[in-house]
Amino acid sequence: MSKKDTYSIVFYYNKPNRNSFNALLGAIENHPVIHKIPIFLFTTKEELLTHIGSIAVNSKAVIACFSFFTTQVFEIEGLVTHIKKMAIDNIITVAGGAHPTGVPVDVLYMGFDLVVSGEGEEILINIIKTIVEEESLEDIPGIWYINECGEVSSNKQRSPIILDRYPSIAERHRLFGPIEITRGCPHSCTFCQIPYMGGNGTVRHRSVGNICVQIESMRKAGLKDFTFVSPNALSYGSEDGKSVAYETLEHLLTEVKKTAGESGNIFLGSFPSEVRPELVTHESCALLSSYVDNKKLVIGAQSGSERLLKCCRRNHTVSDIYTATEAAISAGFEPQLDFLFCVPGETEKDNEHSMKVIGELVQMGATIHAHTYIPLPCTPNADEQLPYINPKVKQFLRSLTGKGSLYGQWETQEAEAHTIDHYLKKKQCPF
Ligand code: SF4
Repeated sequence: MSKKDTYSIVFYYNKPNRNSFNALLGAIENHPVIHKIPIFLFTTKEELLTHIGSIAVNSKAVIACFSFFTTQVFEIEGLVTHIKKMAIDNIITVAGGAHPTGVPVDVLYMGFDLVVSGEGEEILINIIKTIVEEESLEDIPGIWYINECGEVSSNKQRSPIILDRYPSIAERHRLFGPIEITRGCPHSCTFCQIPYMGGNGTVRHRSVGNICVQIESMRKAGLKDFTFVSPNALSYGSEDGKSVAYETLEHLLTEVKKTAGESGNIFLGSFPSEVRPELVTHESCALLSSYVDNKKLVIGAQSGSERLLKCCRRNHTVSDIYTATEAAISAGFEPQLDFLFCVPGETEKDNEHSMKVIGELVQMGATIHAHTYIPLPCTPNADEQLPYINPKVKQFLRSLTGKGSLYGQWETQEAEAHTIDHYLKKKQCPF
């Protein structure tokens, strides 16, 4: 077999998207058809652009995979434009992730050959198999592409995947990261993309046994710190994803702790497995604190205004935020509360409530992580008027930063939000 008979897979394995790529690599690396195909990972744009041409010269076709968020759209657009300008006809560019799922047609227009909408594991396997076996893309559910007549074609969405079939890590490539224990969220916050991304709104939990198998692999690879991904870590195992299933959660914690071994550290309830305030009680904190090694408990508060919490469909109250903070402190955690500013529809009165609540939470001993709302495609807030941060709020947040009680990229996020808002609202797609 000559080199030209082989296919190649290229991943733009950049830092913000590593968790997604670990899962995608985990899905394909042991697949009977795909595992023999060489996979190249490039962590920087420069590396990718330097090598992709020579890989293409030596391959029958290169499947170049990108996953990205809305905040990365300008970087990725530049990259795909550069690749297209190389005019190498055997590079097939594939985009997936949160932004392509939200606006697949716009992403096709950016220059991608195929766009994956929704969960990528099974779809990527299908895409690679279809290309290698020279079959028709028409049969792959969940993809968007330009057909032979130059029209946008999309195939029906795929059903949500069963998490246990796909690991969060790529053991063969020794790529490890947080283990996703729950996918999907039953809430429908108006600023968040998760519930509006097809199957991602369906709550699924990974089994305890499957999580422990992955911890075991990481342990064998010499890792000692184990982190997890969940939209709400305390809801692990609950049927509706909205409550604490104490027995199942304790089973998870016991088994994970045992598998991690004496020198292993378990981090649950801190990034990227935060908790919602209404589930943070004395009982849930007591359970968590008996097993986990994180000092911080990251709680999504978002606003101190009852009105705004309702408008954003948060399904918790301001009182839940105080209760959660008190319970976390009593259990020995350092509560870190996420607050979001500049959500469309936010008023001066809402800001006053938030500043008052933040002031009191800081007095209680909490740290605040401040964020500025960034519009995301397909969310109810995306089409609304984007406000600027109230100068009084800016002054307040800066003063708390100076005292060490608040941190976050809220100032740079404000500028970023307006750039993205402009990008999303301009009708640019010709299809
Ligand atoms: S609870 Fe969290 S993950 Fe769920 S919709 Fe709201 S912000 Fe998104």
